[in-house]
Amino acid sequence: METALQKLVTKNWNRAVPMSALFELTFVCNHACSFCYNCPTGQKEMTTAEIFEALRKLADFNVLYLTLTGGEPLVRKDFFEIARRARELGFALRIYTNGYLIDEAMAKRIKEIANPIEMEISIHGAKPETHERLTCVPGSLQRVIDAVKHLRAQGIKVNLKCPMTCDNQEEVLDMYRLAQSLEANIIFDPVITPRDDGDKDPLRLMASEDFLRRFWQDDEYAGARRELVPVARNDAPGEAVCGTGRASLAIDPYGNIYPCVQWRRSAGNIKELKELKTMWHTSPVLIEVRKAAVEMADRLRTQKEAGQSGVFCSFCMGVAELQTGDPLGYYPQAARNAEFRLKAYEAWKAKTGESAEDAGGVLAKCGM
Ligand code: SF4
Ligand code: SF4
Repeated sequence: METALQKLVTKNWNRAVPMSALFELTFVCNHACSFCYNCPTGQKEMTTAEIFEALRKLADFNVLYLTLTGGEPLVRKDFFEIARRARELGFALRIYTNGYLIDEAMAKRIKEIANPIEMEISIHGAKPETHERLTCVPGSLQRVIDAVKHLRAQGIKVNLKCPMTCDNQEEVLDMYRLAQSLEANIIFDPVITPRDDGDKDPLRLMASEDFLRRFWQDDEYAGARRELVPVARNDAPGEAVCGTGRASLAIDPYGNIYPCVQWRRSAGNIKELKELKTMWHTSPVLIEVRKAAVEMADRLRTQKEAGQSGVFCSFCMGVAELQTGDPLGYYPQAARNAEFRLKAYEAWKAKTGESAEDAGGVLAKCGM
């Protein structure tokens, strides 16, 4: 049965009332990952006072969940001032970090001041040399492990997040086991995205086809992929493919407001707006992305774009626009993952004689 919160989420989704925001506090970072998507332009980042004012506007707009991220958010000297103000305004916080600065004392401060509902930490390998080949920082994997231990000791929920690459694909199971031993969740992402400026160089790190077939089909990866069998989308007519410009918004360190973290079409600047509601409902950018999200769900549902595998596709219009120039363009990674998911589903169906409904669940939408 649907809980009261689930009912509220669905109602707000349908009315495009955002419940969450992601705030990039800085582009500065103490890592130098080879596939970092950030593209700072050298503009002045927001001051503490400007961030406080932005938080007030988000609170007045009834945003409930706030993700503090970067760059690396913990490098900001005013991070705890910002976190404290956010908590005073009633936000439930999430923090995305590379974990490098989290020692025992920092974990205690995080618990005491931010009291986040969860933290997300990036991991790029089970072996130090693999992780550090990407971060370019010696000792950074051990720092991640220590950070998770310190946070778990404070009772904070931790999600490790791993973009799967050709470099770390053979360490996925070891990373899964490592997460289990640390009592953390781990989420593996099969999609490597271009940089925010459209540079496609990171795509050379994509996991191999042979690995993706194994990942989606083999039973030994069931825990790592968090589903026994790939499940399908079930978008009804008129529904959006994801929550872009609808369920959440993203703000960069200069104050630009985007429909979501991946789709960097600015809808305005929070420093220049008196309040968010008017912009949210009248912005041509946001009206257009919401319309495109409905159109894309329709294309996947009716299999116009992707054929049989369309309903197995986690499509991202932000990535599509970066890769093809068209937010509705069916980009190669989406096609590839959808095909592997469909094949894995068909293999499971042939083996068990069961249908998608029997597998339980539907493909979760980004932003919901
Ligand atoms: S930790 Fe994140 S923000 Fe920092 S360099 Fe790596 S990908 Fe970029
Ligand atoms: S799928 Fe992509 S475009 Fe849609 S909300 Fe997620 S990140 Fe944004």
